[in-house]
Amino acid sequence: MHYSDFGLADTKTLLKQAMRQGYAVPAFNLYNMETLTAILDAAKITQSPVILAVSESALEYMGGDILMGMIRGAEYKRGQIALHLDHGHSFDVCKYACELGFSSVMFDGSALPLDKNISESRRVADYVHKFGMSLETELGVLAGTEDKNTTAKNHSFTNPELVKDFVRQTKTDSLAVAIGTTHGAYKRKSANESLRFDILEKITENIPNTPLVLHGASSIPQKYVNQINKFGGDVKNAHGTSPAQIRRAIKMHIAKVNVDSDSRFAFTAAIRKTLATKPEIFDPRTYLSKATDEMTKNCIDEIQNIMGSGYKF
Ligand SMILES: [Zn+2]
Repeated sequence: MHYSDFGLADTKTLLKQAMRQGYAVPAFNLYNMETLTAILDAAKITQSPVILAVSESALEYMGGDILMGMIRGAEYKRGQIALHLDHGHSFDVCKYACELGFSSVMFDGSALPLDKNISESRRVADYVHKFGMSLETELGVLAGTEDKNTTAKNHSFTNPELVKDFVRQTKTDSLAVAIGTTHGAYKRKSANESLRFDILEKITENIPNTPLVLHGASSIPQKYVNQINKFGGDVKNAHGTSPAQIRRAIKMHIAKVNVDSDSRFAFTAAIRKTLATKPEIFDPRTYLSKATDEMTKNCIDEIQNIMGSGYKF
């Protein structure tokens, strides 16, 4: 199936418009029916374009057929929602996503030597472009852990001197940059530690027409961390990137901002509180719908206060 058969949006079109108008399209990760519902509800309420991000491990967890069955059954406006493979690590998984009906894929060759990253990215680009899909690639490495396939100990910032040739040689449609954000919940010494805006500025000068992507940009709302810990959890030193810094980056061609950890925190905080305060509950639908509602609230909050993408659709 082709993504347009599902009424899914072309990611490239969403990102180009966002870059022109100075907002970012949020890419929220999903891994089950509840997280899908939470994201789509937030998109509907805010009238925001939204990218549904599915990582390789989430695709394994749900299975391609179940995922696409849910997408087929979901309600959303034609062209408002894109479906995107987050961190595809091989040509084959990108090809599989393409066959399932994804709008776009990220090929993450950031751990490869530069020449291999370029050649593999180009191979994926040539394949997905045949189907009108678009490609995101990454140059530079984000530290931290997103899932079992995407983890790195050390940072290496994107080298602005390399981006122009990289984009030309790979034919990538958008580029994920490493400017100091980190995957996962344990990001920074404090939320105020600055991103490298000097690097971002040079990148935008060198590739002014390429939408940029910020991974690891969760803000980790402390209210959720506190709620989890209050109701029996044990999450220590979880800090994100401050919303003010993400907003500043969005004005500098960051057209897609990935958010995963924040949703996990909202979801888990709601479940912990519900189970702890209403110990008589044992119907999963009761606590899962509380979790879905809390995640929707958080997605709405990020759309309105960080992305600036509300009422853009
Ligand atoms: Zn990522």
